[in-house]
Amino acid sequence: MLKSPYHGGHLEVIVGPMFSGKSEELIRRLNRAVIARQRVAVFKPALDNRYHASQVASHAGRTIEAVAVQGVAAIGAHLAGEGTLLSAPGHLLPEVVGIDEAQFFGPDLGPLALGLAEAGVRVILAGLDLDFRAEPFGCVPDLLARAESVEKLTAICTVCGAPATRSQRLIGGQPARYDDPVVLVGAQETYEARCRVHHIVRR
Ligand code: ADP
Repeated sequence: MLKSPYHGGHLEVIVGPMFSGKSEELIRRLNRAVIARQRVAVFKPALDNRYHASQVASHAGRTIEAVAVQGVAAIGAHLAGEGTLLSAPGHLLPEVVGIDEAQFFGPDLGPLALGLAEAGVRVILAGLDLDFRAEPFGCVPDLLARAESVEKLTAICTVCGAPATRSQRLIGGQPARYDDPVVLVGAQETYEARCRVHHIVRR
């Protein structure tokens, strides 16, 4: 059975604003690999420095088992069999590696993803292409350039219903300022999908 149109390993990237269905699409592709009885490993960023079993979840409620890791080095260590969850004897590299929230991993994600692809792994990354200011987000633009396959999804603008390509950050119900810190302690912060016209960044 033809597993994918690519010969050997490759990199697939799924991007778009919040609520565009990136996690849904990642879960869909990974579930199909599970049905095909391929070895699948899924990672997402953790808020603490331990490995722990977790889930990638879409806003619509679909989930897949995942390992929460603090950084790229922990993904590498885990795949090398040093993790607490996959360290079975005779451990093999997975055939498919999925990573959600790719924008939160540092610049080392590129070399890891490309190294896995070189080693024959199908790597599927999902993440935000743009930050709340609508500027390219971290390591993701580089990954988009290097990927074999890119899917750019849109959400629905919460103001007008048009396709939304941006994530509106709201603090206390008001559009965030350009210079607002990425982490605001104690503030009531929410995000909405918006089109270009209705995306506001206060300067
Ligand atoms: P992402 O990973 O891109 O944030 P998810 O896969 O978690 O997206 O969630 C997508 C789901 O979010 C949609 O299928 C839909 O049920 C829901 N949703 C809520 N708000 C919106 C919106 N403004 N536009 C599109 N989908 C939305």
